[in-house]
Amino acid sequence: MTLRWHCAATDGAARAGVLHTAHGEVPTPVFMPVGTAGTVKAMTADAVRATGARMVLGNTYHLMLRPGAERIARLGGLHRLMDWQGPILTDSGGFQVMSLSGLRTLDEQGVTFRSHVDGSTHRLTPERSVEIQRLLGADVTMCLDECTPFPATEEQAAESMRLSKRWAARCRDAFVERPGHGLFGIVQGGVFPALRAESVEALTRIGFEGYAVGGLAVGEGQEAMFAVLDATVPLLPADRARYLMGVGTPADLVGAVRRGIDMFDCVIPTRSGRTGRAYTRSGVINIRNARHAEDPTPLDAGCACPACRKHSRAYLHHLFKAGEMLGPMLLTWHNIQYYQDLMAELRDAILTGTLAATAARIEARWQAGEEERAA
Ligand SMILES: [Zn+2]
Repeated sequence: MTLRWHCAATDGAARAGVLHTAHGEVPTPVFMPVGTAGTVKAMTADAVRATGARMVLGNTYHLMLRPGAERIARLGGLHRLMDWQGPILTDSGGFQVMSLSGLRTLDEQGVTFRSHVDGSTHRLTPERSVEIQRLLGADVTMCLDECTPFPATEEQAAESMRLSKRWAARCRDAFVERPGHGLFGIVQGGVFPALRAESVEALTRIGFEGYAVGGLAVGEGQEAMFAVLDATVPLLPADRARYLMGVGTPADLVGAVRRGIDMFDCVIPTRSGRTGRAYTRSGVINIRNARHAEDPTPLDAGCACPACRKHSRAYLHHLFKAGEMLGPMLLTWHNIQYYQDLMAELRDAILTGTLAATAARIEARWQAGEEERAA
């Protein structure tokens, strides 16, 4: 049996479910911390587990260049290498490669690019991307696609989406079925509903274990992103997991869960944590701000992470001012903890049919809170 998702409850368009993988079950909605190069930056695997995270993401692009997919396979796979026993989703490498404008050339068969590490030339095709993800040991493999740039004309978005369609069929053919492992197709089509519908139609005809909505959070703004979800998500099969790639802020997650998305990944909690930006129950806090210099209170009184349970805002402020590496480590831990707590709260609300009220309460707390916009 390949990877499955089953629905436990719905509340409006939102769903609570369970993803069944070769490395265990994952309650959804789920946020997957990003383990770019075989590590969630600044976190041990034990620390990631302690936040309640059940599934992480690995980046094909980074891992294929360093230390290399074949080497990772010889070392027992990515789970063993990074000490992560839970499921891993790997991206296709496409997003990073496509962003290497000037360093890559795209053709019908695939994409040729120069490594940002040492300038060496590499080739990524749908078949090679799927093979690399198998070598890594991914529970969820993503199709290689072209992430349509924003802004794009309707003609450009159509051409790009149709290339991704052809590549999706090649990925399906290349994917080796194994119990508890699955391949996800990626819906493209920019901000154009008709193109999104065409993409869904083609992908569901091929058939995948899950469906991702791609090409969002690339500068279109939250309103446009939600409009694409409103037009796209209802077209997706109800019995398969839905994954919104690369999204987003806590407010993005709440809005997307309400629109029927089950899975998320984003570098925001980890990247922001390293720069002193914390997401809390009372909004966004920049711990570098001078007003925290003598504040003995915790970052977020409702949070059980070590940064909040053992330390004051004053100490965290000091760590960042002094350039101590513990500062980024603690804030990363906190942000991942906050994202996990948020998803658990949303899941409980779906299971009890109280999502609208819960979302309103969460959003009201952000508004009433500090709403301190980081510089
Ligand atoms: Zn915390």
